[in-house]
Amino acid sequence: MTIWCIGRNYAAHARELGNDVPDEPVVFLKAASCLRGLAPVPMPFPDEAVHHEVELVLGIGRDLSLGSDPGWAAVGEVAVGLDLTRRGVQSVAKSKGLPWARAKSFGGAAVVGPRLPREALGDPAEAGIALWVDGRLRQEGRLSQMLFDVPTLLRHLTALAPLHAGDLVFTGTPPGVDEIRVGDRFRLELRGRDTHTWEGQL
Ligand code: ZN
Repeated sequence: MTIWCIGRNYAAHARELGNDVPDEPVVFLKAASCLRGLAPVPMPFPDEAVHHEVELVLGIGRDLSLGSDPGWAAVGEVAVGLDLTRRGVQSVAKSKGLPWARAKSFGGAAVVGPRLPREALGDPAEAGIALWVDGRLRQEGRLSQMLFDVPTLLRHLTALAPLHAGDLVFTGTPPGVDEIRVGDRFRLELRGRDTHTWEGQL
């Protein structure tokens, strides 16, 4: 299982970190062992604040061959997740032109909430995601604000490599990224055909 991640897919988030809006999707990976649910797990740097990035997560429903263009039909399940990021470490890596793995791929860094069938999303043009931390709204966004929509993301990923059933795709975060600490309680929301909310704790 591979955890694919897309960076800078909402223009307002790219700008809040001082990045240019990309002309093709920014792609990075997290190790499969980073995957966790909404309950606390041991973290490798428990005293270090990390940044939350709330994201729509796609569960790939079938194997996709190189160069395929499957559209939404390839998405079996959807979830809301947190791409946890050691922002300071990432900033140093960026400035030195080094990979982001130390900032993005660490134990517990891929929070994924309960998965729903793709149909729960309803019309993607109307769907959205949101995050509260300790009762305060931190981030919200609509899929229609993505620079590269889901079919475009899947086309770019399968241009790189085949995808496997069970792979996950983090699709990028709307603005409002900020610190979250071990012990903080959070709430994820999926605004789809119905609104679904889930409570978690870092
Ligand atoms: Zn992200």
